[in-house]
Amino acid sequence: MVVLGTGGTIAGIAQTPADNVHYSAAQIGVQQLLDAVPALAGESLEAEQVAQLDSKDMDYDVWLKLAQRIEFHLRRDDVAGVVVTHGTDTLEETAYFLQRVLAPRKPVVFTAAMRPANAMLRDGPQNLFDAVGVARIDCAQGVVAVLAGAVHGALDVRKVHSYRVDAFGSGDAGVLGRIEEGHLRRLRDWPSGTPIGLDRLGLDVTAWPLVEIITGHAGVGGALVQAAIGQGVRGLIVAGPGNGSVHHKLEAALRFAQQRGLLIWRCTRCADGPVFDEPGVPFASAGSLTPVQARIEMLLTLLTAPD
Ligand code: ASP
Repeated sequence: MVVLGTGGTIAGIAQTPADNVHYSAAQIGVQQLLDAVPALAGESLEAEQVAQLDSKDMDYDVWLKLAQRIEFHLRRDDVAGVVVTHGTDTLEETAYFLQRVLAPRKPVVFTAAMRPANAMLRDGPQNLFDAVGVARIDCAQGVVAVLAGAVHGALDVRKVHSYRVDAFGSGDAGVLGRIEEGHLRRLRDWPSGTPIGLDRLGLDVTAWPLVEIITGHAGVGGALVQAAIGQGVRGLIVAGPGNGSVHHKLEAALRFAQQRGLLIWRCTRCADGPVFDEPGVPFASAGSLTPVQARIEMLLTLLTAPD
């Protein structure tokens, strides 16, 4: 089994063990994280540091490097699965991207922590232990996230709380399973699908199209849409209230942007629920995707569109 480190709070250090908020993420290496879990001693685990960052700063070059290393290791006959340690802030984005691009037939198990590695009551070691356990399951496949005793599919996982240790949910779909005393009680199927393939994305991330998210709210106007057009943005996700509704002033700006060739999809800013097409509204619904998932989906759509 291979464990790839990318940083995050799981690798963070606080000034004092009682302080769960003021800490620096991404301070200790992935091998050290494994060494701190005595229950994993004696397991055959290969550690590799792919990146070392606070996931708020996640970028496309790290996504690509991670995808390449995962693909490399999963091709090995002696590797049953890969575990990835990551920050909680953007875990759902990296996991979504990798599931859509690689749709791996072996398990790729993300894990993270809400508290730093030296916190009094740290959650990282248990999460890492559980993640290794899930990556060892024979029939497991696809990208999942293991946190606070729950397994989430990559296409559903989202951070739903800014502070609680149990900070992740899977929206309307519900969790894929629960880990109880080292055993997985599986409730749903493993993630599956047809991989888009890394080779179709283009390795020069500076050439990837700009896709941004705009939130609808009381009093919203077209200023951000105008700015996006000026900056060469190729697509916009509108996170509107309720059924992805669009304020009439924002709608006017978006219609203008659409005429200029920008792709525009509607999502909801509600925590859960789908968005349905609305008669007379010319912007497609992104279905049940959250705004950040829809943004990745649009990015992939633009990257793989025929010229
Ligand atoms: N800012 C941190 C990160 O995403 C938060 C965490 O890991 O919990 O890297």
